[in-house]
Amino acid sequence: MLKFIRVTKKYNADKPALDSVSFDIDSGELVVITGPSGSGKTTLLKLLTKDEDPTEGEIYFKEENINLLKRSKVPYHRRKIGSVFQDYKLLPELNIWENIALALSILGHPDHEIEEKVTDLLKLVGLTDKAYLFPHQLSGGEAQRISIARALSTAPEMIFADEPTGNLDAANSLIIAKLLKKINDLGTTVMVTTHDPVVIKHLSGSRMMELKDGVLIDSNEKKEKKKEKEEKAEDKEDDKDKGESKKTKEDEEFPKTKDNVKEKKKSMFNLFGMFGKKKQQPKEEIDDKKVEDSKSDDQDKKEDKAEDEDSEDNDKKKELTKEKKEIKKVTKSKEDK
Ligand code: ADP
Ligand code: MG
Repeated sequence: MLKFIRVTKKYNADKPALDSVSFDIDSGELVVITGPSGSGKTTLLKLLTKDEDPTEGEIYFKEENINLLKRSKVPYHRRKIGSVFQDYKLLPELNIWENIALALSILGHPDHEIEEKVTDLLKLVGLTDKAYLFPHQLSGGEAQRISIARALSTAPEMIFADEPTGNLDAANSLIIAKLLKKINDLGTTVMVTTHDPVVIKHLSGSRMMELKDGVLIDSNEKKEKKKEKEEKAEDKEDDKDKGESKKTKEDEEFPKTKDNVKEKKKSMFNLFGMFGKKKQQPKEEIDDKKVEDSKSDDQDKKEDKAEDEDSEDNDKKKELTKEKKEIKKVTKSKEDK
């Protein structure tokens, strides 16, 4: 799903922020990236969302080389990745409900659909009772849960949480770690950067990567090497039993089969049956396939439409104006009330 190939990022003539970083993440994985301040974690996110371009190397998201992505396509690309930041980045002039609804509103989803989605997301993060408060009325932990709900609003395929518990105490860190795990269990790929021991401990069963001065060490590579070593030892020991013992080892170390991942995705669409679902239809009856199809149809249509528009700059301006208008509209209607 996401592949970095020897990616280097230099902001200036100093040593690079990322130094020939390579990794490969499958759909449905939960990956924890640890590393001290200044090791390049945020740079990784910025490259992924195309807020920065790599100095060298290639980045593929879902088989697409994002180095080659046209500027007009960048907003569509960003919608596929839900970003969660250390400082939440909620819009202070909008209430919680509006913060979560904003992206959907900009995308032109009908009101009844937005209502259902926001209701479900508030339930998921356990903050239904805070819907009409403003960001400054929330605790840090609550604000972060809302920012996670907002990140999920467009049903992204991946969530990237950049030090999401950096401003939180241990109890709230644990709530956020559990929430990220739950979102991953429901089928969304999750990447989380952290140096919070509470988060690292709670997610210790996951794939770990470590960034040190821009250099990445991937726990999967360590596993691969260990496996190779063990296999060689087995070869020497007993050629006959090799096949069987190899299989058991693989099963133990890589329990994430494609089928497992598929199952997870299915359950995510159950929860987010809200995406594209009819109002009266009870959740249990939603046909997962249809929901998935309607979602991608919708996206395809919008993306095709964008493709037709000629000027890249115009696209970008339009996107910004639309967002500004939407915020104004929401703020105005609130003032009128
Ligand atoms: P982390 O998120 O792990 O703290 P960052 O990715 O923010 O690390 O930064 C990695 C390195 O790149 C640091 O040395 C930082 O000073 C540098 N850096 C980050 N952003 C910029 C920038 N916009 N201009 C120059 N240097 C930067
Ligand atoms: Mg950072």
